[in-house]
Amino acid sequence: MKAMLNGTRSSSRKAGKTAAKVTDTVTASDVLKMMDRYGYPAETRDIIQSERLLPAGVLSRLQATYPQHSGLLESRPFLFNDRAQYSGIEGFREVIQILAKNGIRIGDLPERELFVEVYRFKASRHILNTINWNNYEQDSMYRLVFPQPGVMRKKVTEPYFAAKTDQQRQQVIADYMAETNPHDGHQLLNKPWLEKEDGGIEILEGSQHKYPACQLVFDKTTQNCFAFCTYCFRHAQVRGDDDMFIQEDIAQIHKYLRVHPEVTDILITGGDAGYLPADRMRQYVMPIIEDPQLLHVRTVRIGSRMLTFQPEFILSHKYDEMLELFDTMRDNGVQFCWMAHLSTPRELLNPSILVAIRRLQDHGVVVRSQSPITNHVSLFMDKNGVVDVDRSAQNWIDLAHVLAALSIRFHSMYCARHTGEHHYYTAPLADIDKVFSKVFRSLASLHRPSRYITMTTSAGKLSLLGTAEVKGEKVFALKFNESRNMAWMDKVILAKYDPKETRVDKLVPFDTQKFFFEDELKEIEDKLTEIHHKHLSTAEQKPATTIPAKAGK
Ligand code: SF4
Repeated sequence: MKAMLNGTRSSSRKAGKTAAKVTDTVTASDVLKMMDRYGYPAETRDIIQSERLLPAGVLSRLQATYPQHSGLLESRPFLFNDRAQYSGIEGFREVIQILAKNGIRIGDLPERELFVEVYRFKASRHILNTINWNNYEQDSMYRLVFPQPGVMRKKVTEPYFAAKTDQQRQQVIADYMAETNPHDGHQLLNKPWLEKEDGGIEILEGSQHKYPACQLVFDKTTQNCFAFCTYCFRHAQVRGDDDMFIQEDIAQIHKYLRVHPEVTDILITGGDAGYLPADRMRQYVMPIIEDPQLLHVRTVRIGSRMLTFQPEFILSHKYDEMLELFDTMRDNGVQFCWMAHLSTPRELLNPSILVAIRRLQDHGVVVRSQSPITNHVSLFMDKNGVVDVDRSAQNWIDLAHVLAALSIRFHSMYCARHTGEHHYYTAPLADIDKVFSKVFRSLASLHRPSRYITMTTSAGKLSLLGTAEVKGEKVFALKFNESRNMAWMDKVILAKYDPKETRVDKLVPFDTQKFFFEDELKEIEDKLTEIHHKHLSTAEQKPATTIPAKAGK
């Protein structure tokens, strides 16, 4: 296997061997120091060397253009060396202890632990070591993975801290968990079904099919993540809620696809689809390659944050079987897209992720980036609590340039979904529009996100096109780029300008009582609800839990 994989890319790498470097900012000796610092085992070093995955030319260009974001030439010893991951409240406390031993006290522990109890905690060694601990409070990855003071609403912090017993505290947590909304936009209605011969229906419990061309699959092996993002929009999957989507039966997906020729893309997601084992991926992919009834399926996508959280997963021969499968897809005209969620330049400027990306690309994987723009992580306020448009936009402009240097397509930026602690991660749409507009106009067309900024609603993905003035009044101009009825996508929609509103589904029509799609949306939702209820009334009901079971992850 190793020899074969090396052979697939040696010719393309030879071309780069003689190419001139723009600068020697990073030398071959720096590369050796990087590998030592990251403690790469001999196997990883061998892969990097034989597959030419860490050329000094790429590193030099990135370092020379973005020294302010780069961790490439940092030399401070890593604080986290033992475990691949730290998870749960115990893992959180272990991380806090390691930090304290190194003189770093992040404080606000009771509030942070409350967050961990409600939403969970998991951090990989890689992401912990990516954080710049000399200036951690400003570090986006720190803010992404560590619960922050102020994130939990008073309605839960006050009763939690007033509770006298452990049982009372656990009940506050349970009540609040039940209240948090992991399935915004009526996602449970998106489960598709197969019609049975007896007139009944068979629901695909681990799938969503809302837009014709793309079917989502939540495979049973992907209900975990390499680290947990504090803003997670899929916390039902991450914390193991009773109503999470889980696809057990792969054949059921192919059965569904055979009667749905409109589906061109399947998107395997989770949790994190990077967890999908190669043999299970093969079971999804081979029928798509071999069955003439599935020729309409052209792209397999996975949604994964593995590149940011645990890129070393790809840097061993254990991953070769998956790479071979990527080769098979490419050789059979099935595109494989790795939808990474990259939101800052710094997360890309370390050797492990660069090597992982190049290894995937060498096997025909198209890496694309889609990411939410979230306050504190990739959107920043000034000292007056107002969105700092220039600083926020610059983060995304720099990210776009790094993506371009690595041949990663910038697919999309989107607004945080209305789940979890949305209030903390969001900002007024009017301000986000200013940031996005600056990003968009600052980039060459090839480097821009492939669509205007969006926010998901039950009706579909609504893009914010910008503002306009109609009859002397300022309005938002919106357009669907995905919708429950695709015909809705053809119209521009006007909504009253609101400088404070953070949710697109709360915007008010400009000069009509309702948006044009509202009545039809209600009809569609009512019909789906009726079908799902009918199915539920004949299916075995699960008993409700008072205190939700904790996810075993
Ligand atoms: S990787 Fe995705 S599913 Fe996992 S914690 Fe982050 S946002 Fe949630």
